[in-house]
Amino acid sequence: MIYLDWAATTPIREEVLEAMVAFEREAWANPSSTHAAGRQARSRLEAARRAVRRWLGAETGRIVFTSGGTEADNLAVFGLAAAAEARGRPRRAVTSAIEHRAVLDAFRELERRGWEVTYLPGDGRGLVPPESLEAALEAEPGPAFLSLMWANNETGALQPVVEAARLAHRRGIPVHSDAVQAAPLLELGLDALGPDGPDLVAVSAHKLGGPKGVGALWIRDGLELSPLLFGGGQEAELRPGTENAAGIVGFGRAAELAAREAGAEWERLRRVAGRFLGEVRRRLPDAVLNGPEEVGRRAGARLPSIVNLGFPGVRAESLLIRLDLAGVEASAGAACSAGSLEPSHVIAAMGRPELAGASLRFSFGRLSDEEEAAEAAAIVAREAGALRR
Ligand code: PLP
Repeated sequence: MIYLDWAATTPIREEVLEAMVAFEREAWANPSSTHAAGRQARSRLEAARRAVRRWLGAETGRIVFTSGGTEADNLAVFGLAAAAEARGRPRRAVTSAIEHRAVLDAFRELERRGWEVTYLPGDGRGLVPPESLEAALEAEPGPAFLSLMWANNETGALQPVVEAARLAHRRGIPVHSDAVQAAPLLELGLDALGPDGPDLVAVSAHKLGGPKGVGALWIRDGLELSPLLFGGGQEAELRPGTENAAGIVGFGRAAELAAREAGAEWERLRRVAGRFLGEVRRRLPDAVLNGPEEVGRRAGARLPSIVNLGFPGVRAESLLIRLDLAGVEASAGAACSAGSLEPSHVIAAMGRPELAGASLRFSFGRLSDEEEAAEAAAIVAREAGALRR
């Protein structure tokens, strides 16, 4: 099997497993207990928090551990909405139509609760144009907050988060960014961005070789946020409940490794996924790359790890099944909502409805190599060609 679904999830790393097992064996006490065993658990949990901080380049701000990217996004969206309501701000917010459902569905829920939400579409390359952001931020009544993802999970397109934050901050509007896909490969450098960066950032461990079911929300110092849960006061009252301590320790180890390796991994994946894209195009010249052509770290470019291809005239679902039988594992739309093979809302929001049900995402990671990429490309071209005949 050739696994090309690393954006859906990644295999847990051996070093991460070891750290988690050692934690459960040696330091399993409740991190909130005041005795020595509790203090030992607490100290490992805090070491993991420091590792996540270093990975995000964030000595400032708060790191709140959550049950994953979805909860981190929900905490940001509902936490900002509740804080805005408490201050009597207008119940209006802005996001993009290409967000992951963890954000999109949170906003839909806000609408059911009486909020007015502006969903900005992507352009043909899957980028939210800064001009449309500016117009939405300037419209009256001024929005209470903005949420714009860092890198799109279906196309890898890097959104203009810094520009958006600069525009929003001029009007005193806080900004959340879902960096679940960006953070594993891209150095976010949150402190270095300073006031130009977003005010909240969501990340998830299982996208970087960590365990599933653990994530974090970074929150700028001084930002007002309301919790979703109420209980024992853990995580600075923002995410009460006994911590998933082994998961957090695993996250810390994965973050440490990612911080060390991401630069080299970026270059390696650029070659591996580039080979895949080149080979598919050579065999199937009408395959359409959904997303920016250029791989790069700046807004407007694409992560090296994601190649989303449209196959005109082919049903994505049929191709996905054929590929699975032929030994290539990819995904259609967001695999995080696996089981549902609805046409991609992201590709549709890029103004390409005809490709929304005809596109597949191929994503690459730590164990992908060029040979495998070339083999997969030949299979993809063969199967897509066969479906068209
Ligand atoms: N945001 C993005 C961009 C994602 O790709 C995912 C993927 O799962 C999530 C949020 C949700 O994260 P989690 O699976 O940790 O809940």
